[in-house]
Amino acid sequence: MNIHEYQARELFEKFNVPTSRGGVATTPDEAEQVARSLGVEKVVVKAQIHAGGRGKGTFTNGFKGGVHLANSPEEARDFAGKMLGQTLVTHQTGPEGKLVSTVLIAEAVDIERELYLAILLDRATSAPVIIASTEGGMDIEAVAEKTPGKIFREPIHPLLGLQSYQARKIAAQLGLAGKQAGLAGKLLGALYKLFLQRDCSQVEINPLVVTPGGDVLALDAKFNFDDNALYRQPDIVAMRDKSEEDPREVAASEFQLNYIGLDGNIACLVNGAGLAMATMDIIQHFGGTPANFLDVGGGASKEQVAAAFGIILGDPKVKGILVNIFGGIMQCDIIAEGILAAVKETNLTLPLVIRLEGSNVALGKKIVKESGLDVISADDLADAAEKIVAAVKAA
Ligand code: GDP
Ligand code: MN
Repeated sequence: MNIHEYQARELFEKFNVPTSRGGVATTPDEAEQVARSLGVEKVVVKAQIHAGGRGKGTFTNGFKGGVHLANSPEEARDFAGKMLGQTLVTHQTGPEGKLVSTVLIAEAVDIERELYLAILLDRATSAPVIIASTEGGMDIEAVAEKTPGKIFREPIHPLLGLQSYQARKIAAQLGLAGKQAGLAGKLLGALYKLFLQRDCSQVEINPLVVTPGGDVLALDAKFNFDDNALYRQPDIVAMRDKSEEDPREVAASEFQLNYIGLDGNIACLVNGAGLAMATMDIIQHFGGTPANFLDVGGGASKEQVAAAFGIILGDPKVKGILVNIFGGIMQCDIIAEGILAAVKETNLTLPLVIRLEGSNVALGKKIVKESGLDVISADDLADAAEKIVAAVKAA
């Protein structure tokens, strides 16, 4: 799960990670008021979307930049007017962009240096790692490619936690000394605590800035949270903005289905993540393109199967469906009944190939055969993929 920058700043405040003061607005009027209430001349107006690269982004109406410095509350109002209700395209949004319905108005900070700081879970060591770079304010992937020597990695021992020598080491690598090294160390300690206590999988501050006055502040933030830990993070769940997510994925998550929308036209409904990936591969192998990844899980209920069909059919690109079930915990006859009920309920007219294997497979196949519905049966995975690709091509 992701959150907006303004929500990330609320977490920063709770955990004493220094950032600039600000507030949110959903109308130009409100933007002006917030700017005025900050009591400073210069503010920065920032489009709130779940994607980075906003500064260099372009709105579909031609307006350039999702981050702007304004010299007065009136100017903040103008910028807000140009962003709100508009679609911002950045290198992270894809060409369709994201609708801006909120802007953050923050006190503009004078910047001496822009740095980069992140904490993530390193899959290789199964432990947190701190990533720091002197090249802040830029696309970190580009830095990694062109000047990898300017990126520092500091693995954190999961039991010992962040040690003060490590904080000093990172500060030194960032070229910070004296008072600033102390401030950076404190910030790092607070950020690490936030990372752990809120079950983050990633926290990224780009840029972390040093001001001419010597302050060290987080000016932007991107968070990812571990979905499996959300049950114990009610205040994080409360920050979820479903309008930022793929509506098909939101619907799937309501039924505990693992669904990821893709661009192809052959939908698949599979039990088990590995089998789902193999199914997508084999569709591709026979010249088709999968419309989604969908794992209904080991113990899918009739309701879940029906919901899965609903989500699949809600995608207008879908021209055929491949069901690939390996009966284990779930028996093939029960799954067959669930599928047939969903087919009837949705008045399915698209080609549907069903491949069943595993426990009670004979009974499952018999139920499909005797249903009288227009369903294509397949014996194995290759047979199923070939049949659905052919059926979609013929349609
Ligand atoms: P992003 O483009 O989505 O990563 O948005 P950021 O919040 O990182 O802003 C982009 C850039 O705008 C930053 O790298 C800074 O150079 C600049 N910027 C953001 N906030 C301020 C500010 O308060 N003062 C100044 N001078 N520049 C800022
Ligand atoms: Mn940024």
